[in-house]
Order: sequence, then C-alpha cells, then structure tokens
Amino acid sequence: MENRKKTVLIVDDTKTNIDILLNLLSEKYDIVVALDGESALETVEENSVDLVLLDIMMPNIDGYEVCRRLKSNEKTLDIPVIFLTARDDEDSIEKAYKTGAIDYIRKPFKPIELLARINTQLRAKELIEHLNFISSYDEMTGICNRRKFFEISEKKFAQNRDGMYAVMIDIDNFKNINDNYGHPIGDMVIRLVAKTIASFVPEDAVFGRLGGEEFCIVCNYSSLSCVVENIEKIRESIEKLEIVSDSGESIKFTISEGVAKVSDEIKNLDELLKYADKALYEAKGLGRNRVVFR
Ligand SMILES: [Mg+2]
Repeated sequence: MENRKKTVLIVDDTKTNIDILLNLLSEKYDIVVALDGESALETVEENSVDLVLLDIMMPNIDGYEVCRRLKSNEKTLDIPVIFLTARDDEDSIEKAYKTGAIDYIRKPFKPIELLARINTQLRAKELIEHLNFISSYDEMTGICNRRKFFEISEKKFAQNRDGMYAVMIDIDNFKNINDNYGHPIGDMVIRLVAKTIASFVPEDAVFGRLGGEEFCIVCNYSSLSCVVENIEKIRESIEKLEIVSDSGESIKFTISEGVAKVSDEIKNLDELLKYADKALYEAKGLGRNRVVFR
C-alpha cells in the first residue's frame, strides 16, 4: 500500500483552534486549512484530501451543510469527515452522523485520542481503497478484470450504444505456450499482449481481461475503417513480438480477434459480446492469427 503522507483538511473559523491542530498534526500529515464552509468545499475540489476535520458553528455555510454537500458529490463522498466541535448535545451529535460524519469528537479534545481516531479512519479508508482496487483490476496485467469490465461496459451500452463495437481477443494456442515453456513464460505473454493492446485502445474505450488468455474491448468508434485499422494493427504488432526463453529460444505468439458491431437486433451487451465471440471462433476456425468481422 502507498506510503505517501496523507492530507488532512482542517475547517474552522477560529484561528486559535487551527493553530492548536496545526501543532498537533503537521508533523504526521500534510495539512490544508479552510476558514469557512465555502472555501472548504473549494479546497476539497482542488486538493486530494484524505480526511476532513470539520467544525460545526461557522458563518454562512455551517459544518452540517459542508458535510452534506461532500457526501452528495460523487467525487468527495468517500472522504471521511470527523466533526470536531464544542457542541455536545445529543441532537447535534445525531445530526452530524445523519449528514454523513464518520466520527464526532468534542472540544476540548485529548490530543492522543484525536490522533488515534484520525489514524483509524485513514487506515480504514486505505483498506477500502485497496479492496476496491483488487476487486476491480486484474493483478497480472493491471487492466480491468471481468467484473469491472462488465460494470463499465454495461453502463456504456445503456448510455450510448450508437456505433458501439465489441472486439473479442484470444491468444492463439495459449495452452501450448504454457505446456512447452512453463507458466512464467505464459504469464509474460499475457502481460505483453495486454500491454500491446492497451497501447492501441482509445481512452474512452473499455478494455478488460475476461479470463485466462481472453480479452475484450468495447468502444464507440465513429467509423468502421477506424476499427479495421486499429484491430489489424493490434494483430500485426503482436505477431512481431518475441520473448527469448532462458535457453535462448525465440518464442512467438499470435492472437485472433472477433469484431461485432451493434445493430437493431442486439438488445444488450451480452448479445453484442456473443456476436463478437462467434466472430472470434470463426477466426480460430480459419487458421488463427486473423480478424473476423460480423
Ligand atoms: Mg466555529
């Protein structure tokens, strides 16, 4: 897990409170400060903030409103908010948790307790981010795993299916590579193929490893020629690659690709992928190392 210094945003309209917190926290964390609600929201937009320490009583936008807005913005809703306030009545505490606070600490606070509670929330956030990452990305190649691939491309299909293409890609005779040269070489081939394909995939496309030696691209291309050009280039580039084994042997490998375009009869992403899969099998049947369009 990453070891960069975490950034804590202190939001308080009282300068002396800020000074106390700066003294306590600035050695361990990068600190940004906001003296009112508006600038707190701006600061969160402009900086990568890991945690917010939030006062309640402030002029204009109070702490509750700041928290509510942070939690209703997709970009900031995962940032833990700890209220730090002199208010200690139950209503205030309840309201803080209801607006999305993760913790509530009363002023005057005990420094050790504040530090421990900040640290707990930062650790929890880091673990959640790590779990999100490993549940979404393929460990071997770093590209989307099957789950993430379907999540994004189904959303894409629902938003705008016009001119959508699916490209199903499979490494030819991959079992032979593993059998003849061993799994470490097989893994190298998978990584190299993923990296090569990724270099051709436009930013707005979805590219994932569906399993084993199978990959898929889903994209909205403006013209068929654009697809043909890129798909052929991917195949050619991989054909030119080479891995040299420990014994000095040159290992070559190829891919087959099946391309399908969305049409009126295709109702969902699964159907589009099925057509691309059929095209891929045709490519295999025709002798591999080729592209088939449907
Ligand atoms: Mg205040």
